[in-house]
Amino acid sequence: MTVAKKPMAEANRISSMLNLVLGPQRFPVKVDEVAQEYSRQCFRDSPIDKIQGEHLDDFDGMLKSNKSRSKWLIVYNDGVMAAGRKRFTIAHEFGHYLLHRHQRDTFECGDGDIGTGDNNGRDIEAEADLFASTLLMPLDDFRHQIEGQQISFDLLGHCADRYGVSLTAAALRCLEVLTKRAVLVASRDDHMLWAKSNTAALKSGAYFPTRKNTIELPRQALAHSDNGRDAGNQQTGRAQEWFPREPASMQVTEMTRRAGQYDYILTLLLMPDAEWSDSQHDDEVDEDTFDRFARNG
Ligand SMILES: [Zn+2]
Repeated sequence: MTVAKKPMAEANRISSMLNLVLGPQRFPVKVDEVAQEYSRQCFRDSPIDKIQGEHLDDFDGMLKSNKSRSKWLIVYNDGVMAAGRKRFTIAHEFGHYLLHRHQRDTFECGDGDIGTGDNNGRDIEAEADLFASTLLMPLDDFRHQIEGQQISFDLLGHCADRYGVSLTAAALRCLEVLTKRAVLVASRDDHMLWAKSNTAALKSGAYFPTRKNTIELPRQALAHSDNGRDAGNQQTGRAQEWFPREPASMQVTEMTRRAGQYDYILTLLLMPDAEWSDSQHDDEVDEDTFDRFARNG
């Protein structure tokens, strides 16, 4: 199993069990119960003993063990956290527990670590995020929610409600389901905070290197303060305004919505397939999840 497959395989294994026990109408995932119950059953000598809210100054979430590593504790910041963010944070820490607990006994995860598009690398934060989104928003169910429908922030809002996550988390997950090229951009004051491209967009070179560079929004962008008074709209324009390498005839559909408790703007860019690249759909459902569950269970 490759490193990247592991977070998905772990989450899919738990999803298969939940499907068996609870059936398909089981959302949102009760992640605190699942984390405790699952760890007690599978890792009896070092379970997640407690999940609690605390006032944390510098972190959104934390996973730590007692001295003998016989018990683990998940703490989430109960300060200003919305319910969706809290759920994602607990799932993220549960991911560290399953995937990384043998490496350390304390994980402290900040605002920038959890559930943003900024974890493009294959580090443990990206893995914990991937585990969390796979567990909370299984791909097959997500696909079913958006199948045959026009992509819009209203539709993504429906998904966010169904899974009990933030709009940003649902929009990031949607990128992975879409086979056409899609890029999600978060911006504030006309500059990108982060941007994430799906596989098809990435392969065609449609991405923004926001970690290395300060990138300003194109002047014509709906989210630009020159135009963005009525963010929430949609427009179709020339892809070249966003991606200079695109052919002149290529069009991009752009939609925006305020998010993150209103301190940034999300822009979703949708484009047809590039003419020169085959879009390859990378299906992440682990086909032998059920077999392995049956074997282990
Ligand atoms: Zn983390």
